[in-house]
Amino acid sequence: MIRYNFPTLVAKALGHHKTWPVQFPDASPKLAYDAVIVGAGGHGLGAAYYLAKKHGITNVAVIEKGWLGGGNTGRNTTIIRSNYLYDESAHLYDHAVKLWDGLSAELNYNVMYSKRGVLMLAHNVHDVQSFKRHIHSNRLNGVDNEWLTAEQAQAYCPPLSIDPRARHPVLGAALQRRGGTARHDSVAWGYARAASALGVDIIQNCAVTGIRRGVDGAVEGVETERGFIATKKIGVSAAGNSSVVMAMAGLRFPLESFPLQALVSEPVKPFFPCVVMSNTVHAYMSQSDKGELVIGAGTDAYVSYSQRGALHIVEHTLAAICEIFPVVRRMQMLRNWGGIVDVTPDRSPILGKTPVKGLYVNCGWGTGGFKATPGAADLLAWTMAKDEPHPINAPFNLDRFRSGRLIDEAAAAAVAH
Ligand SMILES: Cc1cc2nc3c(=O)[nH]c(=O)nc-3n(C[C@H](O)[C@H](O)[C@H](O)COP(=O)(O)OP(=O)(O)OC[C@H]3O[C@@H](n4cnc5c(N)ncnc54)[C@H](O)[C@@H]3O)c2cc1C
Repeated sequence: MIRYNFPTLVAKALGHHKTWPVQFPDASPKLAYDAVIVGAGGHGLGAAYYLAKKHGITNVAVIEKGWLGGGNTGRNTTIIRSNYLYDESAHLYDHAVKLWDGLSAELNYNVMYSKRGVLMLAHNVHDVQSFKRHIHSNRLNGVDNEWLTAEQAQAYCPPLSIDPRARHPVLGAALQRRGGTARHDSVAWGYARAASALGVDIIQNCAVTGIRRGVDGAVEGVETERGFIATKKIGVSAAGNSSVVMAMAGLRFPLESFPLQALVSEPVKPFFPCVVMSNTVHAYMSQSDKGELVIGAGTDAYVSYSQRGALHIVEHTLAAICEIFPVVRRMQMLRNWGGIVDVTPDRSPILGKTPVKGLYVNCGWGTGGFKATPGAADLLAWTMAKDEPHPINAPFNLDRFRSGRLIDEAAAAAVAH
């Protein structure tokens, strides 16, 4: 794999940039692999990378029905944070935040992780109490999160209006300074390039259409649009389509799939220094390095697999954004889109083994799995390689919906992201 560094850049520039190699080849499926991952989003590509890098399992295929990163990885608003309430979640999400820190260097690919801080606005007494409870709980888990008054929040984010006459006045905010954003496409491309260099085949435009099981019930391989591929280990990381893929193995999953929308404005000069989220008014916003305001909405109220959502949802979001940040009122929106998010009853993911031997799952991240990308990928790889969960993902098993040991993060994940 060519290393991206200054001497390489100079050498390629002297060659008029005509000799850059492709980042990774578009592979054709082989007849058999040691492991197959369904879904080439950040989670699936990352899992393939860690399988090869940390566990020495390099005969791996990642199979994608569309194009690499074309699912939620390429559609999300890229908010990264780890200030979730319960111990299990704090450990899970903070595992990811720690991995984000060195990811660009590890992949030799700039994923543009920017720790600009995530501000979560409190608009009523319930918000204030809930966020302060989160802050105390986070501190006990060694996760940074602090309370700001409305004035301190405005000092941190000057475009924020703290006018007390507003429909939803800002009473204060929780700030996680280590939170921020990353460049979503780079995450997919970086993992794909590094995994491919270790021998992983990335196969695009090839939907998995079935999961074949033997007489003992264990997996034997996947049926795809390009033929059968034999394998004894299948990792499913298919986000909004998880329940469809799990049904191919005869499993019914506790998931509902909803459209979730985002939109971007015309680009403007940098003026918005951090990420701001408001669960109460259903909006969150940051500014991309290109200058566009990246705005996220809440989920639609109905289940659907169409990757677009209802117009009134984004209208509602923009009304809230204009109220909280009056300075953006005259800006034009460039485009909006939707992704399908898979939501569990307790708003926490399912990451681990399944009742089917050789079948592993990573799903249910709902509106907030981008932040978990390196952590989820690392833990899925561990679980597949060792055929047992890592202590961090052990609580996020499927069995919790039978045993009742739920990890209820509905407040942390209320709207989104
Ligand atoms: C609008 C929006 C905003 C969001 N904002 C945030 C945010 O700010 N922060 C955050 O943390 N999270 C956010 N999320 C959630 C986040 O995007 C996802 O949780 C995360 O990207 C999931 O990653 P993934 O790799 O599992 O899924 P994906 O990137 O969706 O990858 C799954 C892949 O599986 C493929 N696939 C599905 N079925 C099959 C099949 N049968 N055969 C082969 N391939 C298949 C799909 O085509 C897809 O490419 C947001 C989501 C949306 C939609």
